[in-house]
Amino acid sequence: MAVWKHEKDQTVWASLGHQNMKYILGLLDIMSLLFFGLEITITSAIREKNPEKKSFHPLGQAIDLRTKTIPVRMIWVWEMTIKMVNGIWHVMRKPGRFDYVRECVGEENEHMHIEYDTGDPV
Ligand SMILES: [Zn+2]
Repeated sequence: MAVWKHEKDQTVWASLGHQNMKYILGLLDIMSLLFFGLEITITSAIREKNPEKKSFHPLGQAIDLRTKTIPVRMIWVWEMTIKMVNGIWHVMRKPGRFDYVRECVGEENEHMHIEYDTGDPV
């Protein structure tokens, strides 16, 4: 199971996290465990809305996963998994898509931001 940097985030996530984000997180978690024997660390999930910065975090449609301390091949597996799910999503005509971006590369809080973009305004 994924490890939460801040334990209380897990409780909030359990009730307010978007169903599709829980799906992708579960998938990435199991892939990491199967291929690398490693657990994902979630550094941030649901945050308070900041009127000056549009974000999917307050909606429960984004998570940040620590990449600072994991093998680069695990990041590749995450990226491949997200791309595959987007392909399946497209074929099944499900709304929205998953986007990812690596942030703060080389810094202490280096992470991958993953969001479920429904196309609706944030
Ligand atoms: Zn983020």
